[in-house]
Amino acid sequence: MSTLSKLFTNKQRQEIVDAILHAEKSTSAEIRVHFENHCKEILMDRAVSVFNKLKMDKTKDRNGVLIYVAIKDRLTAIIGDININKHVDKVFWNDCYLEMSEYFKKGDFTKGVCTAIQLLEIELKNRFPYQKDDVDELSNDISFGQ
Ligand code: CA
Ligand code: CA
Repeated sequence: MSTLSKLFTNKQRQEIVDAILHAEKSTSAEIRVHFENHCKEILMDRAVSVFNKLKMDKTKDRNGVLIYVAIKDRLTAIIGDININKHVDKVFWNDCYLEMSEYFKKGDFTKGVCTAIQLLEIELKNRFPYQKDDVDELSNDISFGQ
């Protein structure tokens, strides 16, 4: 377990996982959260590289969404796969980012991320509704980097 994960209590980690579980009961989109201390590349490049490393580009409906947070650098990105981007516009990403940032400013990463997940659930549930034969294609656990 990375030292970064110790920033979160078990309860906080569970809150994030529960928010993902809850969202994925409304939408077929697959949501993942990645925390690391520093972003060593251009933010968007790094977010895309984590996205691909977590095999988020391999979902059946190409509808994965990654919330990427570099905690010490205070950098955040939310990125979606091809089909997400066809349906979700910049205004939504921006709103989501701003809501999340409000909590991050106070150091509350758990609440910030959970809020973003709830917004994603509302935004995605009509366009990518939960399917009866849903498969949990991507782990709901938080991914921790260095
Ligand atoms: Ca699923
Ligand atoms: Ca999942």
